[in-house]
Amino acid sequence: MNEYDSKRILDLTRKIKYFPTKNLSETNCYILNTCHIREKATDKVYHDIGRLKKEFRNKTKPIVLIAGCVAQAEGEILLKKEKYIDAIIGPQSYHQINDIIKSLEKKSKPMNFTEFEVIEKFDYLNTVKNTDKKISPFLTIQEGCDKFCKFCVVPYTRGPEYSRSIEELITEANNLVENGAKEITLLGQNVNAYNFKEKKLSDLIFEISKIKELKRIRYTTSHPRDFSDDLILAHKNCEKLMPLIHLPVQSGSNKILESMNRKHSIKDYMDIINKLIAARPDIKFSSDFIIGYPGENYNDFKKTVELITNVEFINSYSFIYSARPGTPAFDLKQINMQEAKKRLIEFQKIAEDIKTNYRKKLIKKTVKVLFENKMKSGSRYFGRDEHFNSVIVESNDDLKGQIKNVKILRGNQNTLFGEIVSKLNQINYAA
Ligand code: SF4
Repeated sequence: MNEYDSKRILDLTRKIKYFPTKNLSETNCYILNTCHIREKATDKVYHDIGRLKKEFRNKTKPIVLIAGCVAQAEGEILLKKEKYIDAIIGPQSYHQINDIIKSLEKKSKPMNFTEFEVIEKFDYLNTVKNTDKKISPFLTIQEGCDKFCKFCVVPYTRGPEYSRSIEELITEANNLVENGAKEITLLGQNVNAYNFKEKKLSDLIFEISKIKELKRIRYTTSHPRDFSDDLILAHKNCEKLMPLIHLPVQSGSNKILESMNRKHSIKDYMDIINKLIAARPDIKFSSDFIIGYPGENYNDFKKTVELITNVEFINSYSFIYSARPGTPAFDLKQINMQEAKKRLIEFQKIAEDIKTNYRKKLIKKTVKVLFENKMKSGSRYFGRDEHFNSVIVESNDDLKGQIKNVKILRGNQNTLFGEIVSKLNQINYAA
């Protein structure tokens, strides 16, 4: 979501003639868009400011803005501790960025913009064209979260759940397609909680799928609690909806899920998985896991291992629990760090084995790849198959934006390498 926000910030600043630069030394305004989800996010801000100070030691200081969730969560502290910062701007206030920059050009005092103004933000953003020209851009459809998992900062940094209107989303999606998009990933902290005047995520998917030039639709990140039957059915009936679902579960133990306030059980989770497989048999899953949450014993951990073995996630993102200031879990007694590390290593080894087995089975198979860009070196093109696996092929043709059948020849844990299957066998994506 920060990637989407950063691009929209640039769409805004262009209006006052502030353009992106790759050259740090020529920067007039430095915007750091931050994420607060992991530990040490604030340290990274101080570190980055230190780098900036060094660069501008003998030059005019640029305007320095800290945006994003660190600004929201720890903005006041940042402003007090680091005088180099001119303003902090929360994720729901960045539509005001041009006024802030203009006012700072006149050397005003440090400022704090951390109100939850999500309606005003999107009302204003709707008036500024999205200039993203990627083949596979993001589109934020929903923000915020009402779930309050005990370990998570999102409800405090992004605010309550908010859904944008179908009309504005169709307009922005059309806009992205006019810019060249062939695939759109719909974004939300709780994307499947999308609800605008009783229209759900499945309704939005079917509406967006009517855009002829758009070939693929994805969405992330879902919550099991909001995984309704209509969305499952969309996976059966909407060809453009890709068969990979990122569905965070965090733990395989009901006891831990309850103490995290996840609002679902493992049975609920498995029911969704099984219904999705029944609706679309080639569907695959990825998930997030917190290892060593307070109160997790080895038996709880084993249940998480059991879950990944059963579901065979093609990607598992796992981290040791990291206490975030301001969350209800912050004061809970943490488990022994050595033990947590041991469990993480054991977990990741099993998760990697599952992934390796899956990827081995792809060798000699033919997959449909949407090519996103030509790589810097030689005539190699990068794309993704329907399950979001990275695929690279050699080609002298311009493949950007095209969907081709690719036979996988080899691969490693991150990338698959293949060759284009002859023209006769290519897919006809009639609308
Ligand atoms: S549902 Fe997701 S975003 Fe919301 S509190 Fe839980 S982990 Fe955070």
